Amino acid sequence: MDEAADRNAVIEMPCTTALNKLKRKVPYGWDLNIYRGCSHCCRYCYAIYSHAYLAETRFTKVFAKTNSAEQLDKELSRPTWKREVINMGGVTDSYQEAEKTLKLMPDVWKVLIKYKNPVIISTKSDLILRDYDLIAELAKETYVNVASTITTMDEGVRIKIEPNASPGIDRFNMLQAFRKTNASVGLHTMPIIPCITDSYSNIEWLCAEAQRTRVHYMLPGVLYLRGATKKVFLACVEKEFPDIFEKMIALYKTGGANKAYKERLYRDIVNPLREKYGISSSYIKPMKEKMHKP
Ligand code: SF4
Repeated sequence: MDEAADRNAVIEMPCTTALNKLKRKVPYGWDLNIYRGCSHCCRYCYAIYSHAYLAETRFTKVFAKTNSAEQLDKELSRPTWKREVINMGGVTDSYQEAEKTLKLMPDVWKVLIKYKNPVIISTKSDLILRDYDLIAELAKETYVNVASTITTMDEGVRIKIEPNASPGIDRFNMLQAFRKTNASVGLHTMPIIPCITDSYSNIEWLCAEAQRTRVHYMLPGVLYLRGATKKVFLACVEKEFPDIFEKMIALYKTGGANKAYKERLYRDIVNPLREKYGISSSYIKPMKEKMHKP
């Protein structure tokens, strides 16, 4: 009920800085998030805890930084700016519900084109296709990576864990469309969720789609749970997947699944399937190639 109300009640919150410097280069050093909070409502969302400082407990309550493009322009025009790679959507999704009407992203892309600034974007929505021409234009000039996190192809499962994101097949078709541009495209299978999305058949389905859509790389990662995220996720498991609830509690005594589980997952499922479908694991390779192009 609250989530549904939040989707229609976005609060405008102009920002004083657009770019956020990351403590560690991973391999990019800057983040740009034009929204705070996210209406996609993924039950495992790692960013839920970051909402706390606004005294908002509901991550679905969305704040829109409506002056993002203007502020970004100021920051990229500084002589000290070195055209470093910017990561968009590292904390919240730039193409969530509010973006349909606010349309903040086209102006952000125009600023990036103006400065030919390299960028990585990750989204779980095919709304990004609306800005296809702008992204294709930027990709002709510099490094652009379009990625999507896709955890399952089973819509029955997807609706329970990522209720407001696009269906997996739509996300793959979006990546396929960007494969026709000069951008590199990536599949992030993060998180792989024990007992829910970690079956051989689900990972094989994802790999087969990755091969069909010719993604440049696949980046997997196992579910990690901490703070508010753990509470939200386990409540979802108890309600939607009651049969595995006790197993999940046992597996997630700490923040991460144990070493033996991870070793088995990669040895028996992820690595053999990645090999079978010929999918690279290197997201750095396309970046190096394009960043060093004369
Ligand atoms: S799309 Fe990303 S930021 Fe939005 S709810 Fe899902 S995990 Fe969180």
